[in-house]
Amino acid sequence: MAGAGTAGCTLGARLSEDPSAQVLLIEAGPPGRRRQIRTPAAFPQLLSSEFNWRNSSEPQEHLNGRRMGWPRGKVLGGSGSLGALIHMRGCRADFDAWRGMGNPGWGFDDLATLWTEPPDGGDPRPPNRLTEVFLEACTKCRIPRYSGFEGPAEEGAGLFPVARVKGRRWGARSEFLRPALKRGNLTVWTGVQASRVLIEGRQAVGVEYLLRGRLQRVTASREVILCAGSVGSAQLLLLSGIGPAQQLERLGIAISSELAGVGENLQDHLAVGLCWPCTQPVSLDSAGTLWNTLRYRLRKEGPLVSNLIEAGACLKSRKDAEECDLEILFAPVRSLERGVARGTKEYGFTLLAAMLTPASRGRVALATANPLDAPSIDPCYLAAAGDRALLEKAAGRAREIAESAPFEEYRGPAGSDELEEVAVSLHHAVGTCRMGPGADCVVDAALRVHGIAGLRVADASIMPVIPRAHPNATVMVIAEKAARLIRQS
Ligand SMILES: Cc1cc2nc3c(=O)[nH]c(=O)nc-3n(C[C@H](O)[C@H](O)[C@H](O)COP(=O)(O)OP(=O)(O)OC[C@H]3O[C@@H](n4cnc5c(N)ncnc54)[C@H](O)[C@@H]3O)c2cc1C
Repeated sequence: MAGAGTAGCTLGARLSEDPSAQVLLIEAGPPGRRRQIRTPAAFPQLLSSEFNWRNSSEPQEHLNGRRMGWPRGKVLGGSGSLGALIHMRGCRADFDAWRGMGNPGWGFDDLATLWTEPPDGGDPRPPNRLTEVFLEACTKCRIPRYSGFEGPAEEGAGLFPVARVKGRRWGARSEFLRPALKRGNLTVWTGVQASRVLIEGRQAVGVEYLLRGRLQRVTASREVILCAGSVGSAQLLLLSGIGPAQQLERLGIAISSELAGVGENLQDHLAVGLCWPCTQPVSLDSAGTLWNTLRYRLRKEGPLVSNLIEAGACLKSRKDAEECDLEILFAPVRSLERGVARGTKEYGFTLLAAMLTPASRGRVALATANPLDAPSIDPCYLAAAGDRALLEKAAGRAREIAESAPFEEYRGPAGSDELEEVAVSLHHAVGTCRMGPGADCVVDAALRVHGIAGLRVADASIMPVIPRAHPNATVMVIAEKAARLIRQS
């Protein structure tokens, strides 16, 4: 298996439950046993660490030509080790649509038993004062209060379910991989980058990898599974000669299988980031003090237990819409890029206004044939008709909430809100190895790569359409489903 992120950690652990299976998990990043990864409020700092591949997008035509930061995890646990810990399910319509696209076994009811939730309800903690104000403001704006966080099937606002246990980050790495490491049949190599899949005829037989600058090979007795994420899995297929003929020929890569859909269908949740200074020192901006660090280290208490993006609301852009297509996220910090700091006097809060059902589709393509070069990532944000209007609607609802009475005693003058300048990614890339039967699809409903035996993809890249939710919980489900499919085969 290549890639030990959310999917790889889950699937590797599940497959190794079978004592007759020998599982090798190859991860490009380090083990990353760092306090910063475990501390929920520290996630913004991880984005400038060595645990991030630190890619950026191609210039975005509809966003003033900006290149957007494209973080993805390069560490055991993958992007799930860098994420904001929001643990949310998609809704029935999302998965029933997948099934309707020719993917039997992938409907909402088919997947119902495969969801994993963090223990103790995600270790709920009291929110920041401004988060309570946000929820009051939502009520003022006639958005009902969720009893839990029901999510996109119904309109509502509430505290996000958080992937946290005993004050620490919880995820596929801690929940699945760590306990499985005791088994003798699961081997994990870190700091090892897969460079391509070895293919003989139309059969995958192993993986070529780079270790300290040297190319080496490992053979697979049963099959090769790519779990390298929406960028990494598409990149690996292309480097292996599986993809659009024109692209491979241009780069001089021998074609193993012509598959036009590899790297296409890239989807992401785009949001508008709206920030306000806070006139009172109540936000989490200055929470990075020595005292709070000690409280966190010794007792797992205090503001550093917060995942910063504490609450949200799912909304419908039209009254007659069946499901929500907009989401407003709330963080009691002035800048999510900075996160919490020590000694700052700059207080504020941020609302991220996102569209959940983008119509735009982008692509991941090879920039060169060198596996060490970053691929070209072009999400084509706002390229499809209707996306801009949807995003503007989301931004309008966020402004309405932030400008309502409950925020009056906290709100300073609004910052810039020019959409092209303040649009940000929620880092939910999916779709580049799309599942389905069509000529533009990459894997079938059993996650087998079309046209090549012994090769599967199991990660965020197989989603045909992005769910109306933060995708990490869905990626765990994909891995659970993959484990069952592999066992049955
Ligand atoms: C900053 C950030 C915040 C996020 N916040 C949230 C959130 O709050 N809630 C939520 O639901 N989702 C969130 N997400 C999205 C979520 O983390 C991803 O959707 C999910 O982790 C994808 O899982 P994956 O297994 O497909 O890929 P990843 O978790 O990215 O794992 C891929 C792994 O493969 C490795 N890899 C890649 N190429 C190779 C190679 N050639 N050889 C070996 N290894 C390789 C990578 O290093 C990585 O470890 C966030 C993502 C980011 C980046």
